[in-house]
Amino acid sequence: MSDIIQLLPDHVANQIAAGEVVQRPASVVKELLENAIDANATTITLLLKGAGKTLIQVIDNGKGMSNTDARLSFERHATSKIKDAQDLFNLQTKGFRGEALASIAAIAHVELKTKQENQELGTSIKIEGSDIVSQEVVSTAKGTSIAVKNLFYNIPARRNFLKSDTVETRHIIDEFQRVALAHPMISFSLYHNDNEVYHLKESNSRKRIVSMFGAKTNEKLVPLDEQTDIITIKGFIAKPEFSKRKRGEQFFFVNNRFIKSSYLNHAVNNAFEGLLEQGTHPTYFIYFEVPPNSIDINIHPTKTEIKFDNEKALYAILRATVKHSLGQYNVAPILDFNRDANLDTPYNLNSKQSFSTPKIIVDPTFNPFKNDVTETTSFKEEPKSTNTSTYQSNFKKDPGSWESLYTSAVSTETTKQEELFETKQETETGKTFQIQKKYILSSIKSGAVLIHQSLAHQRVLYEEFLENITVKEASSQQLLFPISINLSTTDIEMIYGIKSDLESTGFVFNEFTKEGVTIGGIPTSITESQITLVLEQLLDDMKLEVPNESFSHFDVMAKSFAKSLAIKTGTVLLVKEQENLVNNLFSCKEPSTSPLGKATFKTLTLQEIDTIFNK
Ligand code: ADP
Ligand code: MG
Repeated sequence: MSDIIQLLPDHVANQIAAGEVVQRPASVVKELLENAIDANATTITLLLKGAGKTLIQVIDNGKGMSNTDARLSFERHATSKIKDAQDLFNLQTKGFRGEALASIAAIAHVELKTKQENQELGTSIKIEGSDIVSQEVVSTAKGTSIAVKNLFYNIPARRNFLKSDTVETRHIIDEFQRVALAHPMISFSLYHNDNEVYHLKESNSRKRIVSMFGAKTNEKLVPLDEQTDIITIKGFIAKPEFSKRKRGEQFFFVNNRFIKSSYLNHAVNNAFEGLLEQGTHPTYFIYFEVPPNSIDINIHPTKTEIKFDNEKALYAILRATVKHSLGQYNVAPILDFNRDANLDTPYNLNSKQSFSTPKIIVDPTFNPFKNDVTETTSFKEEPKSTNTSTYQSNFKKDPGSWESLYTSAVSTETTKQEELFETKQETETGKTFQIQKKYILSSIKSGAVLIHQSLAHQRVLYEEFLENITVKEASSQQLLFPISINLSTTDIEMIYGIKSDLESTGFVFNEFTKEGVTIGGIPTSITESQITLVLEQLLDDMKLEVPNESFSHFDVMAKSFAKSLAIKTGTVLLVKEQENLVNNLFSCKEPSTSPLGKATFKTLTLQEIDTIFNK
């Protein structure tokens, strides 16, 4: 029998290798940013188009490459960073595998321009799917610019596998943040579709954190500083009361490289023990310096997990350091009573700091039920179909309640990040459709979105309440006839205990007696008939809450109010109301979950819809 084994051609081998290095646009971003840092750049600019699917370009002012090196840099296993295996044990650079550029060039259109400082002219190279299209001498700035276009253009399966622009952008931002936090001395900018998203000046780590996560972050940070023979620990933890429900802001860096470590995360959590509200996670930015030969970065292809020689010792040192700082800065929550109530809530109108969850564009061209939907109702019209009449007549009688719930302004301030996600909503009449009086279907750019009306409305109301409570003056409506509500002694005490918090939402209490309370004013967002329901629900929710004096009741109240007042499943919504709900939901800071953490919507990409029919 004849021989059958062949060596794979380079471009095939590169495509296969690329699969490991490049999972998504964010992987390219990481590799290019790291190369720029390894080239000693002091200024790095990242340009994105279409969530990196169309363009990822990194421009640096680093040392550049010679003509020959520029060509060689795209060969597999071509690296200037290690010479022999021994160097692996003393790595000072991010890269060392010499695979990134070869992999990227195998699956995209790449344009490199580079020039060394002492040279008159630089080099420009174009590569498409590992094939060199051109190599020229050009005049260009000192440093390197690498543009990666049409990622996965030659591997449709991979390209189709990419998630929505919103998700891919989020991954890119994560990488960008990690790299920028690890290198505060380097100035970084990020542009998406020509909008500036970040412009981070050269600074120190504290300032870098603050410029990334917003001015309010500064007062939350408690420094760490510990030096031992085997490790130096620097960085910041956020005071326990600023811990997050989501695990978002947790960063470990080892020798200026972002790493993940559940083991070390455990050490931090352990140090916070007893100080955190249940279900929350501490925020931290912790920088370790260790001798390069005491770690092994080689164990993971994407290099976010590393192995330490002295893991157990590190655990103990880290835990002690965090505990020490918590103690030293007196941040046990009980001692920290007089702080700004704004900071207690996840809602923070005045800063663009926290990353708002990506938004969705409503596709103005979608109209599957044109005749049925668009013409059924305009807001002011009398109901035409009988099954909507109950709800609508309620609505008419009481425009102050439902209407205000839908139309009152949730923050419309667009942050740079929101622009990034192209948040501008373009809902027009007839772009939504209600299903089973429970869900709203709406068309979006990438396909469709299915929204749970009640959970979505909870989210809208929750943020609205928090905004009202913490940012604006509470608005109150005076009742013509004060209402007395009978309550048990414990309930009366409970209400009395949170009287001032309730007042800041707009409640006015005329009298507390043995039998109950008399209420003279209520928040504008509640109607008279809802008062008892709202208070009863609140009492129930308060009883379930772990008593903790340092935490404001605002969050519990906002959640509770949102729960009581949200439209329920089974309620028919007019088209206009559906649209308002959709718009208000996606103007929220965190549209994707209800205040109690349930998903508010699910997107169905066109591909997902297509696969339903192509099975
Ligand atoms: P690695 O970073 O592992 O060495 P890469 O494929 O990422 O592998 O890069 C290959 C080589 O190309 C690097 O070792 C470096 O010499 C050169 N290079 C890549 N990007 C840059 C850059 N931005 N500036 C200067 N040299 C670069
Ligand atoms: Mg590299």
